[in-house]
Amino acid sequence: MEMVDPSVKQRILIIDDERSNIKLLAGELQSRYRISFALNGEDGLRIVQGELPVDLILLDIMMEGMDGYEVCRRLKSDPQTRNIPVIFITAMNEVADETKGLEIGAVDYITKPFTMAIVKARVRTHLELKRHRDLLENLSSLDGLTAISNRRRYDEVIQREWKRSQREATPLSLILIDIDHFKSYNDTYGHAAGDDCLKQVAKTLAASVNRPGDLVARYGGEEFVVVLPRTDPEGAALVAEKMRREIESLDIRHESSPTAGCLTISLGVATTLPTPHESPRELAGASDRSLYQAKRNGRNQVQQVQLETTSGS
Ligand code: GH3
Ligand code: MG
Ligand code: MG
Repeated sequence: MEMVDPSVKQRILIIDDERSNIKLLAGELQSRYRISFALNGEDGLRIVQGELPVDLILLDIMMEGMDGYEVCRRLKSDPQTRNIPVIFITAMNEVADETKGLEIGAVDYITKPFTMAIVKARVRTHLELKRHRDLLENLSSLDGLTAISNRRRYDEVIQREWKRSQREATPLSLILIDIDHFKSYNDTYGHAAGDDCLKQVAKTLAASVNRPGDLVARYGGEEFVVVLPRTDPEGAALVAEKMRREIESLDIRHESSPTAGCLTISLGVATTLPTPHESPRELAGASDRSLYQAKRNGRNQVQQVQLETTSGS
């Protein structure tokens, strides 16, 4: 799920094996929406799974190869594409056909020959609903206290980046961060001060990554997680050390910390080349073990491991 920017036009994917249908629909819809199209089901699925976010699919049923029902079934069984509304546009006009289409998860069903005004009205309705859903989803992927991404968002992103890194054969790095002696911070300065501190730390961490694919999320109470796609161990170590330094230089007074006079963090870094035999859980486990090392070694530091599959460096 991408961030919602209401000024950006939504994208409609038209899947139909007749060019004339695509032309007709695209001609009418392209002034308000961005259009992609495919002439068969397989290509359509590839587009939906690609980089451009699709907001609505107009789907023909009778096509060579994979038919529209099967395309719809596959879209609905994949968590990444399940929430994209599908409207069947088809010459199959039996009640049974329509029922089947709606049962496998289409939001609407329009029979050919269609009236363009009706197609446009229904498309507009479903795209408005989609936009509202996206906005709500975005709100619920933010952490209530710090306003950075929450655990739920992290879970989505790590799954997606895991698959992407596997496809691209690029390294994926993860940093787990835990505030040092935070319990005594709360005990010394009070819970409200603790909350303010968490906000400041979150903001500083979020500001220390640059690439659009990077994610900083609140993992739990005083723990944060950073996902760094296409990042090797050296790159991840640089980001982690930068974060450690920047939190230290916030110079938040922490008199009862045995580590330093100010607030500090410990960081555990792990990098892997994702394979189908492992899962993000293993990567997170490795980061966690590094973090534990950092704590044992005296806190306010970065510790790092590479999973065995990571070659080079
Ligand atoms: P360590 O250096 O080993 O990490 O010590 P620690 O005290 O940070 O570790 P511990 O896990 O024992 O304590 C975490 C504390 O973080 C517990 C709680 O007081 C505080 N904390 C967790 N979530 C919040 C929160 O949302 N707000 C505030 N104010 N404090 C929180
Ligand atoms: Mg902790
Ligand atoms: Mg802690």
